[in-house]
Amino acid sequence: MTHRVALVAQNPGLPFVFEAAGRAGCLITLVALPGVTVPAGLPNVESVVELDIFGDPGGAHAWLEGRHASQPFDAIITLYEAAGPFTAEAARRLGLRGIGPEAARICRDKYRQRDAMRQAGLDVPGYRLIDPVADIGSQITGLRFPLVVKPVNGLSSQGVSRADNLADVTAAVDLVQIINSSQLASYADASHAERTGVLAEEFIDGPEYCVEAVSSPQGTTVLAITDKGNLQGPYFEERTFITPAPLDPGTSARIIDAVRVAHRQIGIDFGASHTELRLRADGTPVLLEIGARMGGSGTVHYLVETASGVDFLGAVLHQATCGVLPTLHPTQQRFAADWIVPVTGHGVYAGLVGAEEVRRHPATGMLLELMRPGTPVPAWPRFVGYPAFVLSSHASYRDCQDYHTWLEDTIAITWA
Ligand code: ADP
Ligand code: CA
Repeated sequence: MTHRVALVAQNPGLPFVFEAAGRAGCLITLVALPGVTVPAGLPNVESVVELDIFGDPGGAHAWLEGRHASQPFDAIITLYEAAGPFTAEAARRLGLRGIGPEAARICRDKYRQRDAMRQAGLDVPGYRLIDPVADIGSQITGLRFPLVVKPVNGLSSQGVSRADNLADVTAAVDLVQIINSSQLASYADASHAERTGVLAEEFIDGPEYCVEAVSSPQGTTVLAITDKGNLQGPYFEERTFITPAPLDPGTSARIIDAVRVAHRQIGIDFGASHTELRLRADGTPVLLEIGARMGGSGTVHYLVETASGVDFLGAVLHQATCGVLPTLHPTQQRFAADWIVPVTGHGVYAGLVGAEEVRRHPATGMLLELMRPGTPVPAWPRFVGYPAFVLSSHASYRDCQDYHTWLEDTIAITWA
């Protein structure tokens, strides 16, 4: 039996969800964002439609409702952070499974997430919503430096910077405002009640981890805790992910506990989620954000499957189409990693050096080139997309670190 799935705003350069659809007996209708080039011949895609879900959500909902009336969908999902509220609302309108639209909106609003986590009794950094036109100094009174300034509805660390003093905060607020009005405002139209804004909060100085999980009304199951390094700023370009993180059982248990509490508080009771957190010096987890979607637009499927043997995307598609999660038995198998080729500069992207060498290395699982030559790339903390991901598999954490050192010397982007 074939399930028909609407997949919203998927980056077509990442193969995982298209391949998983075949395993889960799904045929995909790909809802592409305007201007995104979709290559022909993507596996398990029966049709592609361009819908402006941010600029014209009403029109996009109407198209989906019309198609659903003639050829019903069994599920509608997204792996793209910004499309969460639209997809949750579409699921509600079509009578399909998904998280509630309110939970999806909280996940797109870092200020509301802070409030939710505080209400749940979790440790949160001191935080303030900043009014950029009012006096900044008086608004951050009581917060302890260093701070982090960020967009309320950002993604991919865009516009996130560390601020060590008031002058830094003021400059960072100005920068967030520019990014909000030029880029993030387009996600924030009134119809899905998302907002832009500026958040200032205390910098948590400790190692960072990601948690990949899947939820149902019965609760949240953690599939992987990934080591994300310990970026110190001033900008936070994402670089390395290693699964599983080398953690003692007590710390893992505290992380899993905090993640479960936060999911219950926000109301994430369905599908994949991606949580980011840091540890305080005493080991207390401080959740930085939760995305009610799979991490890395599906890239974490590789990490979870390689490290634990669990078919993460297969499970998520099964749950979306059939209503129940298959039984999942994660077991430690390998160490898996995602290494993001750094931007280091700005200019017009030309390509990669060292790509063939990296592809030939036995630890390399996949090199995914995501940026088109000719793309103008600004300096961090502006962001237009990742150049490339290197996915790999190793017998030990140490092997993985050595491989990443080798990558540093082997692969880089070139400018036109
Ligand atoms: P985005 O949604 O754009 O990814 P995040 O809130 O996740 O924004 O911030 C991006 C990165 O910035 C985080 O992964 C982390 O490394 C760093 N960061 C953000 N907030 C803090 C904080 N309060 N303390 C320490 N690091 C932070
Ligand atoms: Ca993040």
